[in-house]
Amino acid sequence: METASLRIQEDRIIEQIKRRIPSAEAGDLRLGIGDDAAVIRTRRGEWVVTCDQFLENVHFVATRQPADSVGYKALTRATSDVFAMGGRPRFFLLSMALPASRTGRWLEQMISGMARAARDFGLRLAGGDTARVERDISLNITVIGEIETGWVIGRAGARAGDGIYVTGRLGGAELGLRLLNRNGTMRARDRALLRPHFYPRLPVEFALWLGRKRMASAMMDISDGLSTDLSRLCARSRVAARIYARRIPKVSVPKALRNDPKFDPLTLALHGGEDYGLLFTAAPRHAKQIPARLGGTQVHCIGEIIAGSGVMMVEEDGTARELRPAGWDHFAVHSRRGER
Ligand SMILES: [Mg+2]
Repeated sequence: METASLRIQEDRIIEQIKRRIPSAEAGDLRLGIGDDAAVIRTRRGEWVVTCDQFLENVHFVATRQPADSVGYKALTRATSDVFAMGGRPRFFLLSMALPASRTGRWLEQMISGMARAARDFGLRLAGGDTARVERDISLNITVIGEIETGWVIGRAGARAGDGIYVTGRLGGAELGLRLLNRNGTMRARDRALLRPHFYPRLPVEFALWLGRKRMASAMMDISDGLSTDLSRLCARSRVAARIYARRIPKVSVPKALRNDPKFDPLTLALHGGEDYGLLFTAAPRHAKQIPARLGGTQVHCIGEIIAGSGVMMVEEDGTARELRPAGWDHFAVHSRRGER
């Protein structure tokens, strides 16, 4: 009896998900939800495949985050990595474990947020799995994207002389997180400041444009903070970077917070994670073709690749210093979202 009722509950959840998130069996999704596995017809080209987990009390605190934001952000984080390779997101698989207390209204809202992200990114749900746990929500998402053969943009292609570019403003998500941690709760008057943390926007149109134009020599998304992610890109390409503090597009910090060193815009922009903008490099011959703005996304050149190793930053006053990676690190001692 127990098993049967759990099974029926699971079927109900799957039906609920199918109704809301695009998942129709059509075109190259030959077989979707409801069988043992999905069947996807391949066209020419290659698949870009990535997975990402979004865990309660590791990546988010459920009592401090709207349920629809949990769904939106879980899918956004996972999809960001497909855009960062130059790919076009197509399908995703969702595995989730939920406590019984989260199967009602919370689940309905979570699905609604995830459905919005799926529409924004052109994704269809191909399958997944559900389980009940005693506590702590877990969302595990695999995203599959497509790309022309040989067109993938990895992290290893940056060369001395290339420009270094970022999309969007940096530090907005970290500002939201710090406000949330400081106040211990969502305050209505902070709504606009919390948005980049709860609902990060991916540079969808610009990412697809860049993928088609093949101008980037190396690319990744900024998930753990510019200082950390640029260091990774440089290490992978065996080069160094020189960036300029004044050229970095920084989050604008409200007046009331400006004297608090925890809300210094440059620190937030350099080390804050989860903005999910793109970090890419391009040869000087492409500099004039890269737009300053496309599809609502701002693009800034913040420096250049040089020979050597490490990241050098030129301060506003012209002095140069080494920039050490100080962004998000899951295995560092401070690494719990709520304590950071
Ligand atoms: Mg990434």
